[in-house]
Amino acid sequence: MVELKDLLTGGHTRRVTRWGEPVLHTPTQPVTAFDDELHSLLQDMFTTMATAEGVGLASTQVDDNRSLFVFCCPDENDEVQAGVVINPTVILPEGRARELVADEEGCLSLPGAYSPIARPDHAICRGVDQNGDPVEILGTGLLARCLQHETDHLSGIVCGDRLSSRARRKLYADHDAVAYRYPDDWPISPKKDFDPTRHA
Ligand code: ZN
Repeated sequence: MVELKDLLTGGHTRRVTRWGEPVLHTPTQPVTAFDDELHSLLQDMFTTMATAEGVGLASTQVDDNRSLFVFCCPDENDEVQAGVVINPTVILPEGRARELVADEEGCLSLPGAYSPIARPDHAICRGVDQNGDPVEILGTGLLARCLQHETDHLSGIVCGDRLSSRARRKLYADHDAVAYRYPDDWPISPKKDFDPTRHA
């Protein structure tokens, strides 16, 4: 039995994959083994997410093709929730309960770029935890967006796929303008300082 707190520290920072790398655009495979190797992957993912200052991280973002993500993200009450969801499915509100919000959304695999994306304002994510026990997360606020974004990743969908071609071009242009700050192995190598001469 591995507790969540045992996964939050002690990992190694891994390189975050970038949009265009096949692993990010390929559906993942279900997790079947809940062993030490899985737990060390989860540890590395929590550490990598913290180093990169993200609120969620999917397996494909550390070049793994198993269906799982980690999160450490504030909800609508600014309460930070942390956890693991393995083999997740998202249940979205329908009919009158469905209300879309178009807040800014970004992805650690296209660092430095953000775009408004319309998504339902709450979501339920079901799956199993690090021990294979059922887990259900109710997401509101940013956490609702995070659960949808990370589950999309596991289907091989990046948030740019949900944009119009015009909005997607702008997102790539925003990324290109700051891409020099992110070394290829980021966040193993840290982000470089902002260079005002490049933005003059
Ligand atoms: Zn992402």
